[in-house]
Amino acid sequence: MPELAGYNDCTGCQACKFVCPKRCIEMRENAAGVLLPEIDASRCIDCKACEKICPALHPIKFNYPKRAYAAWNTIPLQRKISASGGIASAIYKWLQSVDGVSVGAFVDSDWSVKVCVLKPGDNFDRLKNSKYSYSDPSEVYKEIRPYIRDGKIVVFIGLPCQIAGYKKTFGDRDNLYYVDLVCHGVAPNSYLRQHIPNVEARVGISAAGMSFRSPEMGTANYYFTLYDRDGKIGYAKRSIDGDNYNIAFHRGYSYRENCYHCHYAKPERCSDLTIGDYHGLGKLQPCDFDSDSVSVILVNTDKGNALLESLTGKELIAVSERLVDEPIQGDSQLRHPSLKTRQRVDFEKYIVKYKGDFERTITKVLSRQKQREAADRIYSLPKRAVKKIMRICHICN
Ligand SMILES: Cc1cc2nc3c(=O)[nH]c(=O)nc-3n(C[C@H](O)[C@H](O)[C@H](O)COP(=O)(O)OP(=O)(O)OC[C@H]3O[C@@H](n4cnc5c(N)ncnc54)[C@H](O)[C@@H]3O)c2cc1C
Repeated sequence: MPELAGYNDCTGCQACKFVCPKRCIEMRENAAGVLLPEIDASRCIDCKACEKICPALHPIKFNYPKRAYAAWNTIPLQRKISASGGIASAIYKWLQSVDGVSVGAFVDSDWSVKVCVLKPGDNFDRLKNSKYSYSDPSEVYKEIRPYIRDGKIVVFIGLPCQIAGYKKTFGDRDNLYYVDLVCHGVAPNSYLRQHIPNVEARVGISAAGMSFRSPEMGTANYYFTLYDRDGKIGYAKRSIDGDNYNIAFHRGYSYRENCYHCHYAKPERCSDLTIGDYHGLGKLQPCDFDSDSVSVILVNTDKGNALLESLTGKELIAVSERLVDEPIQGDSQLRHPSLKTRQRVDFEKYIVKYKGDFERTITKVLSRQKQREAADRIYSLPKRAVKKIMRICHICN
């Protein structure tokens, strides 16, 4: 039997499922709600195609970025409704002019997050903005293959672990471009599918849409937002306002386990271009432009450079070259994976104990955190008292 990457390393890219000639791999949620591949041993012919394609077991080539840019969509509205600088949207727009194909993540009506294929002429509005959830790429592999065979230009945009899966499967052909997002981790989708009905019941609304970075509240403010049928905001809360999904996600408690061991959270990239929010802009080099809604673009290959020139050539984006070290120093995700804190260890324990119940788990994790902080304050009391007395003595002398 083949041995696939396990709980610590499997990213859920699903390349294994796609290449299996017997179609005997299914994705199943484990006790923590994490989707992992499962082989039906009775049908497996032990060809090991799944093992060989796995980017976690057999990593692809990485390249250190050649150049870095601050970049933004030239249409101000696009920047307002995109996650940061609207670069992905500019790529989608460019593809329309060359009859090309792409992929992107959207939130479905049951709050599952899926990756779909964007065909020529398709509207790409629902792909804009960040979805802070695992996105299921299973449909992409078989749907995009005919376009690749026909020689269409295809730009894969996605999380670095997804890009690795696509690249292992489809290779480095001239008509294929790979664009990865800087990523700090994804939470299993089941948490989102629980959280929204929970908020609906508590607040007394019926949600017809959602956003993790709502344009109305400012995408840089990370409001978890639910909209009613008329598109009006019925709920909008940040971590500091007490939204449990935001707390668990932005404090790094609720990711898939592989995100804490991420093979892609480093300066070397698996793609042609890397895009992300520009953290640390102006820290190593003066910056004389408005830094609102600005993305970083890392150019990792010559092909990436050609794609960038296509976007700037059509004036879809504006760019300003920066030192490569600036974004790398500015964003820890370009240096190392998210850290596994005490709260994450608690989350991992309780999500299994409470049989995948997200709200119960995060409530428990936060109450344990409060207890620990109170205990820490008591333990450090004598030390703090001595320090205070010493300070008073010093002033008196
Ligand atoms: C889970 C996650 C974590 C991130 N963490 C960081 C970080 O730590 N630091 C950082 O600088 N940037 C991070 N980003 C990237 C950042 O939020 C923006 O997505 C990126 O800057 C692109 O912005 P844009 O304005 O060009 O994108 P837009 O033009 O708004 O388009 C958004 C693009 O992201 C894709 N996308 C959104 N959600 C998902 C998803 N769940 N799975 C696959 N593709 C998706 C869409 O399909 C689309 O291509 C993260 C993104 C995600 C989805």
